[in-house]
Amino acid sequence: MTQKMQAAQVEQFGKPLVIKELDIPTPGSGQILVKTEACGVCHTDLHARNGDWPLKPALPFTPGHEGIGIVTALGTGVTAVKEGDRVGVPWLYSACGHCEFCLAAQEPVCADAQFGGYTKNGGFAEFIIADPNYVAHIPARLAAKDAAPLICAGITSYKGVKETQARPGEWIVISGIGGLGHLGVQYAKAMGLHVCAVDIDDRKLEHAKRLGADAVVNAKNGDPVAAVVKATGGGAHGVLITAPSLPAFKQGVGMTRKHGTCVLVGIPPGDFPTPLFDVVANCITIRGSFVGNRRDMAEALAFGAEGKVKADIELQPLSAINEVFERLAKGEVPSRVVLDFSR
Ligand code: NAD
Ligand code: ZN
Ligand code: ZN
Repeated sequence: MTQKMQAAQVEQFGKPLVIKELDIPTPGSGQILVKTEACGVCHTDLHARNGDWPLKPALPFTPGHEGIGIVTALGTGVTAVKEGDRVGVPWLYSACGHCEFCLAAQEPVCADAQFGGYTKNGGFAEFIIADPNYVAHIPARLAAKDAAPLICAGITSYKGVKETQARPGEWIVISGIGGLGHLGVQYAKAMGLHVCAVDIDDRKLEHAKRLGADAVVNAKNGDPVAAVVKATGGGAHGVLITAPSLPAFKQGVGMTRKHGTCVLVGIPPGDFPTPLFDVVANCITIRGSFVGNRRDMAEALAFGAEGKVKADIELQPLSAINEVFERLAKGEVPSRVVLDFSR
């Protein structure tokens, strides 16, 4: 008899996930089976559930791209991992390995890239099928629940900070202090930057201060651009926008110092107006950044293993996923919820 597992699936966009009993999948040639220990809940999972983006996943699907677990079975021909290894199954589920982008270690933009919990079933399930060439290798010093947020929120905010090209001693704005942003503050501090945290919730800003932010600005009060320009003495050298909210984007461009770089990682559906004269005359760079490559993953996890970055997590069972989504949509999750499969 085939063994069963629990999984939370999106059957219809915008509707609650359905918790089901599914067959435990068998790894095919070149695949591995991972027994999930923990999986973080990213705002991207909520965009996926809502069908927010132009590229939509095929229904039904299992979200989750911060799944960490133990390799329990290998398909034929697998040599990159062995049974018993602790791995993470990330957003960058797999890529072709041969195109111009893969050859340049820019595999997140590979045209054949598959996305965990989106085009492939993800970690809101007791078992996950993964590609051993693209899993994250979890350092021994990191518990599964602590590693989970690092394999999406961590790598994305870490890479985003690097992409601003802000240097030690310079200012960075982190806009949106949720799952990505609370880690971004820690990476930026560990990299020697001055951090100005921006959010619309004073509790998130208090949290940013506890994590080392040098200045905080509530974007709901007054003119947040003027407040940041004042706090940073002329605008931040780098700005990282993680907020899933369109007004944060135009504001972020305004917070950027002359010759600075504004990196966009939040993906609310829609567009934002770009003040062309200001961008041109101030020589501002606006840049998108999409997770990171496998080297970025190893680096982002190393900060965690060395104790320089630690996700603040709230553990919940898989059965609570719909309540977690409701709170995430309202901005009521303090930092990151991690689904705990050990209980
Ligand atoms: P989250 O819900 O945990 O955090 C969002 C934070 O933004 C909250 O603290 C909220 O209060 C704050 N916020 C809301 N409106 C704001 C505004 N106008 N100004 C400033 N702050 C505001 O979400 P998350 O999991 O951190 O994800 C954030 C976004 O990043 C989502 O759109 C997600 O899809 C995207 N994302 C992108 C990548 C990528 O590779 N580019 C990877 C992961 C997530
Ligand atoms: Zn994510
Ligand atoms: Zn490729």
